[in-house]
Amino acid sequence: MTASTIVIVGAGQAGAVAAAELRQQGFAGRVVLIGEEPHVPYERPPLSKDVLLQPDTARCAIHPDGFYAQHDIELRLGMAVASIDKDVRTVTLGNGETIAFDSLLLATGARVRRLPMLDALGDGVHTLRTLDDARRLLPVLRPGQRVLLVGAGVIGLELASSATDLGAQVTVIEQAPLAMMRCSPPVLNSNLCDVHRARGVVLHLGVPIAQAAREDGGIVLTLQDGTRIAGDAVVYGIGVEPETTLARAAGLAVDNGIVVDAQCRTSHPHIYAAGDVACQWHADSGRYVRRETWENANQQAVTAARAMLGVAPAESAAPWFWTDQCGLNIQFAGDPTAAEWIVRGALDQPPCMLFGLDAEGTLTAAIAVNQGREIRNAKTLIGKRARIARDVLGDPAQNLRMLARDV
Ligand code: NAP
Repeated sequence: MTASTIVIVGAGQAGAVAAAELRQQGFAGRVVLIGEEPHVPYERPPLSKDVLLQPDTARCAIHPDGFYAQHDIELRLGMAVASIDKDVRTVTLGNGETIAFDSLLLATGARVRRLPMLDALGDGVHTLRTLDDARRLLPVLRPGQRVLLVGAGVIGLELASSATDLGAQVTVIEQAPLAMMRCSPPVLNSNLCDVHRARGVVLHLGVPIAQAAREDGGIVLTLQDGTRIAGDAVVYGIGVEPETTLARAAGLAVDNGIVVDAQCRTSHPHIYAAGDVACQWHADSGRYVRRETWENANQQAVTAARAMLGVAPAESAAPWFWTDQCGLNIQFAGDPTAAEWIVRGALDQPPCMLFGLDAEGTLTAAIAVNQGREIRNAKTLIGKRARIARDVLGDPAQNLRMLARDV
């Protein structure tokens, strides 16, 4: 690879990791990392937890202080990219400056899905995606405040946990019949709802919001069944949408994200995409998949950086993510849409695990509750497409490491 300039648009997890990987692989040319936010690239997982709970000590920078200067990575922060000209291979910044690239990585991430009915209320309505969003929540999540959390996905439940720890009175409103339905099986979600209820959280599940209004200095949400819920503030987390504006305008293929091949190459041979914005071809499942996880951002960043340099990709493993809430560390590996779940141990007495099987009985997923050390073994078993008797999977006395070795 003889490229002398690689431009990365988006200074989040994927962008910052890709820049580091380029240097790690010995790329000696120019690396320009452009981010719209003013902050040095930071990790998002702490935003709903440590940044709220320990705002003075929480650390979320992706790389240590001085990293970008030490590795000669040009960090252009607080700078939006206005356009990409893929034919002449340039990006134009919001200030009119043009930078020519040999290869370009689009790591533009995702933006919060908006709920206009709530946005129309103005002050007192929040979302959580950025460090600034998290800091705006600090004065909201305090003792006695009635906080209405709309959406019981990962953001909603992690916020419910943190807000309760901070002394707020939390009500969760979710249109699906259970929490976390997009990424976790009902058997676990039902238990999680009970855990939150036991901490004083009120959950309204399975009924959409019909109306939102300001009343007596507060906010009142009326559900479609007529239930009225009053609060001092609303925080909503109803999912995200891939940030594809630049890619679309540049004429790249976009379909539920920027379409990329297994090497993270877009429909243009010198332009790559990674992270929440990338919808990647997976040969094993024969379909395009877009994942919104920290691990996926890291993996695709490495894949794209290596592909730009003509270096072989790292080995891929079963997808993985985690959530921390209510004192539980829950790690998920594999495909959450399993046909059947086997529970190992008791869900209401963690540590415990769940194993997901497909219709043929092959292990395709695992969840570890306060048992993170087992997730590596579970990933190995998933990677080997293991078929293990249900009573063995469900037996806490079985040694997973031995099973993973012997299968
Ligand atoms: P999410 O996990 O996709 O969950 C959004 C939830 O909101 C869904 O259950 C959805 O239900 C519900 N919803 C949608 N419209 C609604 C409405 N009008 N009223 C009430 N509920 C509504 O999204 P998220 O929690 O906003 O998180 C955003 C992204 O950040 C996700 O990709 C998530 O994985 C990621 N994240 C990850 C972590 C982690 O890995 N630990 C932590 C935080 C965030 P329907 O499915 O019925 O639409």
